[in-house]
Amino acid sequence: MTHDIDPAGLAALIALRRDLHAHPELGFEEARTSAMVADALRACGCDVQTGIGGTGVVGTLRCGEGNRAIALRADMDALAMTEAAEGRPHASRTPGRMHACGHDGHTVMLLGAAQHLARRRNFSGTVHFIFQPAEEGLGGAKAMLADGLFARFPADRVYGLHNMPNIPVGQIAVVQGPQLAASDRWEVSFTGQGTHGAKPHLGQDVVTAAGAFLAALHSIVARQVDPLHPAVISACAVETGNFAALNVIPDSARIGGTARSFDAGVRDLIEGAIGQLAHGIAATYGLRAAYEYRRGMPPVINVEAPTAIAQAAADRALGHVMTAFPPSSAGDDFAELAAVVPGCYVWLGNGPAADGALHHSTRYDFNDDAIAPGVAFWSELVETDLAL
Ligand SMILES: [Zn+2]
Ligand SMILES: [Zn+2]
Repeated sequence: MTHDIDPAGLAALIALRRDLHAHPELGFEEARTSAMVADALRACGCDVQTGIGGTGVVGTLRCGEGNRAIALRADMDALAMTEAAEGRPHASRTPGRMHACGHDGHTVMLLGAAQHLARRRNFSGTVHFIFQPAEEGLGGAKAMLADGLFARFPADRVYGLHNMPNIPVGQIAVVQGPQLAASDRWEVSFTGQGTHGAKPHLGQDVVTAAGAFLAALHSIVARQVDPLHPAVISACAVETGNFAALNVIPDSARIGGTARSFDAGVRDLIEGAIGQLAHGIAATYGLRAAYEYRRGMPPVINVEAPTAIAQAAADRALGHVMTAFPPSSAGDDFAELAAVVPGCYVWLGNGPAADGALHHSTRYDFNDDAIAPGVAFWSELVETDLAL
């Protein structure tokens, strides 16, 4: 590999990764992690800005006369869960906190790339190393954007990376098109005049209406969404009635769930269709319906130009690149950044899932053997996109 790190440098990155793993911090609480990141970035000659979107850090490295800029993102947060790995020397020291998604590895690989690129100075332009807080559902990317991320650190392209178990170590999947789903929430409530359970004709029946709504809900994906576009609608909570009053038809019923999609048109269709169904059922049963659809993260969609560059860089850095890999119905708020600046998100092999542990498992661990290929990819990506 053209971006081999010296053994001492690699040993230091592994030690740092294990230190971060032992000291996980939740979203927007990454004080220790971000301080270590800022110190390491300063030590290798980056300009460093801290406190962006809470605990976010950006390190900037300029080289040559090039006037183009790119941004590379790592996330720093851990999850609110207790690690359950027996005999792992670097296991979390804090119950209820765990790096179960490998963000400790992401942080270290991007620092390793900053150090490596600062030594080689083999590109022309500006790189912003973005260390984002709170990726796990708390809106760290949005917080950094609200704090002027791309106004303060303008970039022509943004790149993200996530470790992926069951892709071999030393391999990277870089795939054009959808990678991660849009993740939205919805809520429907039916309201009428409750009545005696023995005299349903004297009121309206929200329980039966809720049943009819739930039975028809899955016809949206089955009959309205293009079968060649993936989509998920799930009802995940239902609330109505009282088991201490089984002779009472209640006044209201509340139903809520999630919706996942990759395509903007499908997302719009789902938002409209759930509401249309709710109001149609309400009309049928003589009820009032209230409907709320809350859009969460947009989907991560890899667009052509940055994807081609990332593919070329992965191929050069590692000798091969996987250009096909199935998308995930999970989400990543990298999508917020890629909605502003054209982006590409890649999957870095973490090797076989040890003990079957996948992301968000109490036994998951980032694989230190993936650090060197990760640093090599980030470094080659910068030297390719900002070639001399
Ligand atoms: Zn995660
Ligand atoms: Zn993650």
